[in-house]
Amino acid sequence: MATTRIAVAPMRAAQISKPGGDFEIVEREVPNPGAGQVRIKVQACGICHSDVLTKEGKWPGIQYPRVPGHEVAGIVDEVGSGVSAWKKGQRVGVGWHGGQDNTCRECRRGDFRNCENLQIAGISYDGGYQQYMVAPVEALVPIPDSLSDVDAAPLLCAGITTYNALRHSGAFPGDLVAIQGIGGLGHLGVQFANEFGYKVAAIGRGPENAVLAKKLGASVYIDTNETNAAEALQKMGGAKVILATAPNSKAMSELINGLGPNGKLIVIGVSFDPIEVAPVQLISGSKSIQGWAAGTPADSEDTLRFAKSAAYVP
Ligand SMILES: [Zn+2]
Ligand SMILES: [Zn+2]
Repeated sequence: MATTRIAVAPMRAAQISKPGGDFEIVEREVPNPGAGQVRIKVQACGICHSDVLTKEGKWPGIQYPRVPGHEVAGIVDEVGSGVSAWKKGQRVGVGWHGGQDNTCRECRRGDFRNCENLQIAGISYDGGYQQYMVAPVEALVPIPDSLSDVDAAPLLCAGITTYNALRHSGAFPGDLVAIQGIGGLGHLGVQFANEFGYKVAAIGRGPENAVLAKKLGASVYIDTNETNAAEALQKMGGAKVILATAPNSKAMSELINGLGPNGKLIVIGVSFDPIEVAPVQLISGSKSIQGWAAGTPADSEDTLRFAKSAAYVP
C-alpha cells in the first residue's frame, strides 16, 4: 500500500546546545501543537536579561538543546485538539508565565503566578528565538490591534513585571517611588510609575541616562557615581517604594536606607548574590523587602491595554 508523506518545511531556530554554549542557528522541522496547545508563527521576540539563565544553564532542570525567548509576539498558525478559545490568525503573545499545571495547591487557590510547576517559555520548553513555537493555551495573551508586534513583545516580560509589581506595591499617586536601573525593566518601570501618578526618582550609574529618564517621566535623576542615592531619597522624605531592576545585589543593599516609613524594596532584577541588610534597618520604620515574579497572562493583557492608552516608549 502506498503511503503519502507530508513534507514539513524546515524552519530556523536559535538554540543553545549545552550550558554555557554559544547560540547556534539550526534547521528544525516545524513543530506540531499537541492537545491544549497552539503553534505560533513568531513575528517578534524581545531579548531579556533572563535569557542568560538558559544560555548559561543557571535555571535548574533545563533540558538541552533549548531555544530561549519569553517575550514573544506572533500569530496563531495551528491549534491542537481541544483548543476552542483561540483561533488561527489571531495575534497572541507569550511571556515569562508559560503555563501552569492547574492541579497544585497554589493553582487550586487560583494563584497561578506561584504554581509549583510553573512553565517558563524558553526554559521549560522552546521559546521565541525560532520561526514557529508551540505554547500551551494557559500561556497565551491576546495582543490589541493598536500595538505592533515589536512594541508588544517586551511588554510581556519586562513590561508586565514592572507594571504588576508597581500596581501591587501599595504606593498611591503622589508617593515617592524610585526606580533603580534604567535598562530593559527600568525604562518601562519609570514610564508606568509616572503614568500611575507617582513622583518618580530614577536611579542610575553615570550621567548618560539622565536625559532619557527625564524624558520617560522621572522628576529626579540620581547618579550613584556622584550621589549617595539612599541619602538623596531621604532628603525627599524617603521612598514609599524602590523598584530594584538592575541585577546587582550590592546596589540594592545600598538603597535600603532610602526607604521611608512603611517603605518597601521590591526586587525584580534577577541575581544569585545575597542582599545584605541588618534587621535594625527594617525594624525601624517597619520597612520590608519583597520579591516579585512577573504575572499571569491576564496580568499581561492588562499591561498591554494600559500601555496602549499611555504614551509608551518601547
Ligand atoms: Zn524576561
Ligand atoms: Zn500549579
